[in-house]
Amino acid sequence: MIESPLLKHMSGYIGGKWVDADSGDTFAVMNPANGKELAQVPRMGEAETRRAIAAAKGALQMRPDREVCREWLEDIAQALIDEKTEVGRILCLEHGKPWKEAEGEAAYAAGFFSNCAKNIDALAPHKLDERPRDCKWTTHYRPIGVSGLITPWNFPIGMIAKKLAPALAAGCPVVIKPASETPLTMIALFTLIHERLELPEGMVNLVMGSASEIGGALCDSPDVPMLSFTGSTEVGINLIENTASQVKKLALELGGNAPFIVFEDADLDAAADNLIANKFRGSGQTCVCANRIYAHADVADAFVEKVVSRVKSMNVGDGMDEKTDMGPLINKAGFNKVRDHLKDALDHGAQLEAGKHPDDLDAEDGLFFPPTVISGVTHEMACTREETFGPLVPVVRFDRDEQAIEFGNKTEFGLAAYVFTKNKERAREVIANLRFGHVGLNTGTGPTPEAPFGGMKLSGIGREGGTEGLFEYVEAQTVPRSKN
Ligand code: ADP
Repeated sequence: MIESPLLKHMSGYIGGKWVDADSGDTFAVMNPANGKELAQVPRMGEAETRRAIAAAKGALQMRPDREVCREWLEDIAQALIDEKTEVGRILCLEHGKPWKEAEGEAAYAAGFFSNCAKNIDALAPHKLDERPRDCKWTTHYRPIGVSGLITPWNFPIGMIAKKLAPALAAGCPVVIKPASETPLTMIALFTLIHERLELPEGMVNLVMGSASEIGGALCDSPDVPMLSFTGSTEVGINLIENTASQVKKLALELGGNAPFIVFEDADLDAAADNLIANKFRGSGQTCVCANRIYAHADVADAFVEKVVSRVKSMNVGDGMDEKTDMGPLINKAGFNKVRDHLKDALDHGAQLEAGKHPDDLDAEDGLFFPPTVISGVTHEMACTREETFGPLVPVVRFDRDEQAIEFGNKTEFGLAAYVFTKNKERAREVIANLRFGHVGLNTGTGPTPEAPFGGMKLSGIGREGGTEGLFEYVEAQTVPRSKN
């Protein structure tokens, strides 16, 4: 069982108090590196969520001013920096990603709080210079109200930071539901908030357990005008349908299917290094991971060779071991999906360049999936149509720029894409034609707190990060004032 000064309470948090499930029921949190149980946490549901919403509604009356909100944000950022090693350890144990990578995620999360603190004055009221209709016009940014924040397991601290920071900047109380695979990092964050900040009771609330009951209560409640969700497109659509009659505001960051396009004039070593860093972060379980690799026919073989030589020197193992470059997958379903995509591709004629044959891969033997490279991939194969969410690198060849654009856009998703070329004119043209919210040019980097990030098409609605993200939790209220 896990022990940590940040996990003194294995509980939810409602109205400023640590609470268990009404029923007393709990569920297990597992370490994916060894299949051992780390902790039991409360299995909460509808009744607890309703109480959390009521507590949050009470806190809405506090109307903290911007200076107070700025201090909260700075204090949380500082707490995460101070405790990034311990938060990283907890995150590593429940998610599996290497400890250093997990520590980096805690620092990344701190960046969202400090960036919102830095830019919070963008939410100040502003007056029009003009006097239309013979009035003075002022725009205020009012907190939208109690916000439900639902997060996935792949970035247990990063994903909540993107939502909680702008919500607190706006003065919105929140009800948070973490993924059931990774609630411990969230409990650690709540411990830091509880011990270091004096928030109004009910400002932040934590419920964990049944997704349908908690999600249902958040969707049904007229006291929750805003839901921010990161996860699958399927659940995102479900939330749209279940909140339509209330016209709730939704911020949705959903699935991706990122193309990584390497032109014949690219620096192939840099492209290979960036692909490794991008693709194998979190064992390939991020929504911005390259899912389809397009290499120009003139350089495809050379590029595959460079990727394979890098892959062969990677260490896969327990994230607590400092030699580990890549940890396990989150669970058996995740493992089996990657294996199925690999098998489907090989059955349809792809060649295995690095990794193991699917017949030699069994989730029962552990969740460590070797970094795998396949060539000769076509769009008939499932790995190009669906997000694999694992360490599989499928390489497709292309011949012309228009084909690269057509292939890149061959998806209903539009989250991240990457383009590698030295030709600026070509880069401009290709990027302008790719329908993705984030397009890396000669870099595989993902989002940063300072810039807006979000999806086009089925990848979602809204932006997180940057000043755009700061405005997600406010509503403009316009006040024209007559001179009389
Ligand atoms: P993933 O594939 O990343 O697990 P999900 O969309 O299944 O994506 O889960 C993301 C988050 O949404 C998790 O916290 C999960 O518990 C929650 N969730 C799943 N189903 C629902 C639902 N029907 N309503 C609200 N939240 C849900």
